[in-house]
Amino acid sequence: MTSLAQAFSAPFRHLPPGGVPLSPGDMLAACGTAWATWRQGVLAGQEVLEHLGTAVGRMTGCRHAFAFGSGRAGMSVALRAMRALSPNRNVVLLPAFTSYSVAAAVVHAGLRIRLYDLDAETLAPNTGDVAAQLDDAVLCVVVCHLYGYPVRTAELRTLCRAAGAMLLDDAAQAMGARSEDGQAGTTGDVGLFSLARGKNITSVNGGLIVTDEAALATNIASLAPWAAISGSVAPAHADIVNDVRLLAQCVALWLFLNPRLYWLPASLPFLGIGTSRFAPDFDIEALRPLQATLASRGVSRLASINAGRGQVAGELGQRVRHVGGLRTVRVQPGANPVYLRFPVLPEGGDWPGDAVPEVPRLGMVRSYPESLQDLSPLAPYLLPGPDCPTARWLAATLLTLPTHTRVTESDMDAMMDALASGAGRNRPGAMAAAPQKGGAL
Ligand SMILES: *Cc1c(COP(=O)(O)O)cnc(C)c1O
Repeated sequence: MTSLAQAFSAPFRHLPPGGVPLSPGDMLAACGTAWATWRQGVLAGQEVLEHLGTAVGRMTGCRHAFAFGSGRAGMSVALRAMRALSPNRNVVLLPAFTSYSVAAAVVHAGLRIRLYDLDAETLAPNTGDVAAQLDDAVLCVVVCHLYGYPVRTAELRTLCRAAGAMLLDDAAQAMGARSEDGQAGTTGDVGLFSLARGKNITSVNGGLIVTDEAALATNIASLAPWAAISGSVAPAHADIVNDVRLLAQCVALWLFLNPRLYWLPASLPFLGIGTSRFAPDFDIEALRPLQATLASRGVSRLASINAGRGQVAGELGQRVRHVGGLRTVRVQPGANPVYLRFPVLPEGGDWPGDAVPEVPRLGMVRSYPESLQDLSPLAPYLLPGPDCPTARWLAATLLTLPTHTRVTESDMDAMMDALASGAGRNRPGAMAAAPQKGGAL
């Protein structure tokens, strides 16, 4: 048992903002796959990729699945596959507040961007903005389920159909979430899941693309024949250098989810941990077999991982209500969020003195500090569109709290104290009232 005093006097205790625990068993399995791939040459790896394909097919119900070295790579290929079906369309509609990787994927695919705003309470798309911009230049609308809060997609789907555009259901942050309209990632023409660190499950990096549209699947397979993990799966070649690097990154991820060690990478600015960068110059790579092993194991544990996050989010939600002066994202009726992170916003619209109460040591960080209309390196690729004031407000004020397994009761109390003073309120004695949960470290 750590006492409160110990926990907070521990000079190096630092909660990572996100992360899924990789177990020693995961790493052993990944090593086993890597070893088999090196020894058996070109034929090895095929089996584990197929196994992941089966798991993804079962999870999503989609007929075609593809695996990539990153989510943005998968998204770029999916957009090119769409473009091959509609060569005259070159515009993608994006939420003005989302991961910069989404914008990077569109630019990588050689397309242009128009933005739509979000609803401040639910983070759902402003369908008026979408409808107003759906003309015959629009190839695709991307919808994102930010922080694991699923948004409804049926209306967007109808709008897209009517305009001859496609819908890309970006569940990079919402694997396992559902809205009334279905499972996140499966309600569009194409679905995306990310396997990056900090996502619902991880294989260090990686991305999955799913679709039920035969024509899109054919185009994706011709752009990236090595990416298919359902149907005919190509054998994986050996890439020892890459595999060793990935295994080392696994060990680092495993070590650094530990709050007693995370201060180390967090204090090395060149690692760029926790920063979101717009970088459209990425490579399109395959998911390595050892990553497929990690991903399959993650998929099989997804329900319990999501339940764990749900429990932390539930406790955070209760405490946040207690602090007062704060808003959380409204869960839509019939929806099942997976709470990748727990966003909070000031009830009045602004934090006192406009100072977002970030406490990196507690994993309390902002996510995307600029909305896409203000992201200067993106400007050359942006087409004129509506002003997106809510996205701008979210970028300026939204604060996220961690929901991973290393968050303890005393961490939550410390977070609430930071929020209480950040929201301009005093909550004397808040820390002392905390019950202790032992052994959670
Ligand atoms: C992380 C993320 C992506 C892309 O994933 P990477 O695997 O990091 O390339 C796409 N969309 C959203 C909303 C994301 O959060």
